[in-house]
Amino acid sequence: MHSQRVLIITHDPDVEQTLRALLPSAYEVEVLPTLKALGATAAPPPALLVFLDVTLLDGGPLQLLDLAPLQSLSVVLLAPDALPLKALNPLLANLHILGVLTAPYLSDENRTTLSTALSNAPLYLHKADLEQQLATAQQRLDQRLQELNVIYTIGRTIAASLRLDEVLPRVVSIAVNLTRAEEGLIILQEEGDLYLRATHRFNGPEIAPQHTLTQDPIAERVLQSGRPVMLKRETRLSTGNLVQSLLYLPVLQPGGGTVGVLGVINRQRQGEFTESQLFTLSAIADYTAIAVENARLFSEVEREQHRLRSIMQRATEAVLITDEREGLLLWSRTAAEAFAIPDDAAGKPILDVLHHAQLRELFHQALEGLDSPKGEIILPGGRVMNAQITSVSHLGRVIVMQDITQMKELDRIKTEFVQTVSHDLRTPLTTIQGYVMLLDRAGPLNEMQRAFVHKALNSLADITDLITDLLDLGRIEAEYDMPMTDLQLGQLLQDIEEQYRPQAQKADLTLQLTLPPTSLCVRGNAYRLQQALGKIVDNAIRYNRPGGEVALEVQDQGEHILIRIRDTGFGIPLADQAHIFERFYRVLTPETESIRGVGLGLTIVKSIIEHHRGRIWVESVIDQGSCFSILLPKCL
Ligand code: ADP
Repeated sequence: MHSQRVLIITHDPDVEQTLRALLPSAYEVEVLPTLKALGATAAPPPALLVFLDVTLLDGGPLQLLDLAPLQSLSVVLLAPDALPLKALNPLLANLHILGVLTAPYLSDENRTTLSTALSNAPLYLHKADLEQQLATAQQRLDQRLQELNVIYTIGRTIAASLRLDEVLPRVVSIAVNLTRAEEGLIILQEEGDLYLRATHRFNGPEIAPQHTLTQDPIAERVLQSGRPVMLKRETRLSTGNLVQSLLYLPVLQPGGGTVGVLGVINRQRQGEFTESQLFTLSAIADYTAIAVENARLFSEVEREQHRLRSIMQRATEAVLITDEREGLLLWSRTAAEAFAIPDDAAGKPILDVLHHAQLRELFHQALEGLDSPKGEIILPGGRVMNAQITSVSHLGRVIVMQDITQMKELDRIKTEFVQTVSHDLRTPLTTIQGYVMLLDRAGPLNEMQRAFVHKALNSLADITDLITDLLDLGRIEAEYDMPMTDLQLGQLLQDIEEQYRPQAQKADLTLQLTLPPTSLCVRGNAYRLQQALGKIVDNAIRYNRPGGEVALEVQDQGEHILIRIRDTGFGIPLADQAHIFERFYRVLTPETESIRGVGLGLTIVKSIIEHHRGRIWVESVIDQGSCFSILLPKCL
């Protein structure tokens, strides 16, 4: 575009003529008589080179502005000898000067300066062109960055909000401000219907949240297609309204699906919305979708929390729920009343708010890793609660407590009744037993009579065992006559081995005791512990086959002692294992049917072990044998 055109600015015809003579004929020459004439031209001259007669600068009051059109061009100064160029320096500093021709102009020196200037000028122009393009691109980039920054900042505030009533009016106001539209609106689809959720009307009131059922064919189109609609010229809508321009964008959910429409409208103002505004509003619509989804999830969580709190309020059980860091999360009203939990306890460590010693002890057991510890808790007023702590991984713990005061009372009445009846039965039974045993002294008995006497005595022994067990159970549960001392378990187990060896031998079984070399001190009642362990050994012998084994092993586990009693007997079916510690529970299999028993032995064992703050459990495989494990706390 920069041809071979040069411009000579001089009022001196001689200078002009001389210069024309110096220039090669290929150049097209234009002459301007003054600098003002330069300013008067509509566009800056597209010249390759400008020759500026500096005598023109010497006359009147000259301003930098007058030279401004020359700033993007290459200049060669024409200077008569006499003129001091230095004085003009401040003015000329802004020009790109390729050389100075001095009078007399037709000299060899000037020819050389001129040809160098002519060959350098295109390079300068090209460079200036590139610089110009770069500056424009940079400007555009800065503008875009600024826009993106605005979108990002706005987007963050939109997406961070969890309340739609706050966020939607903000979105409409932002959309209107960014596009300078006269109107704005946001429509959300709820269960197939369209609801206007915030509007900014032409000359209307402030933008406020709303929830108005609406019909808008363009919004429906956007919702169905998931694509924006842009009207660029005056259009009469199917509603009868006239608009100059309109832009509706889908609010697209991150997971897919259109949930609403964001729109801006000009009713009177001329001029269409631009592609750049479409881009900006699309970003705002995307952030709105995130806000809608966040708000939905938030209200769902709030609803769930509300439901959970209502359930907790009504729950008759005392329930306490902690988070992963043992902070109190939720609790039922019953729990608050029973344990005097203050209203502001949420988030506080449970052990800071819970002062009930037994429950704290149970919680400590859970902290130490005991699986679902449970126990009875007695409240200050005397109420008894059955408490169990369940750990839920990555969530925390749930403590559930049921009021069993009434059940305990019934149990006490029943036990009392059984005790009285058992006691009263014992005396006549002993008398009957005595007389039956004396029968053969009254005269010789025949075979059949002797068999009847034998059966009668067996049954009497069963009833006496039952009564003894029942009376025992009553005493153990009432903690009657159970003083505790520090005792050596090793000695106790040796006594048991000695006591049961004859019975084992009779049943053709080997009974083996293995003790560790360390001292095994437990705090307990020697008589009751011997009774409990003896009953398990007795079972291991009775529910075994000839040629089998019964092994007693002991392990020191630091704070506890573990006793295992293993046998190679019939085993216990899995379904029965959970019940064998219940009163009167017997496993009826063809092998065990004929073995005498009343089903109270393990109930007594469990009660004794629990009164020693211990635990008992069983592992068993049918036809292979059973292993009863007992964990007892060591002496302090
Ligand atoms: P019982 O008087 O019937 O022996 P227990 O309470 O001692 O009552 O035991 C309950 C039931 O558990 C028994 O009837 C028996 O079926 C089963 N049982 C107990 N110990 C063993 C064992 N070592 N091997 C197999 N079954 C056993």
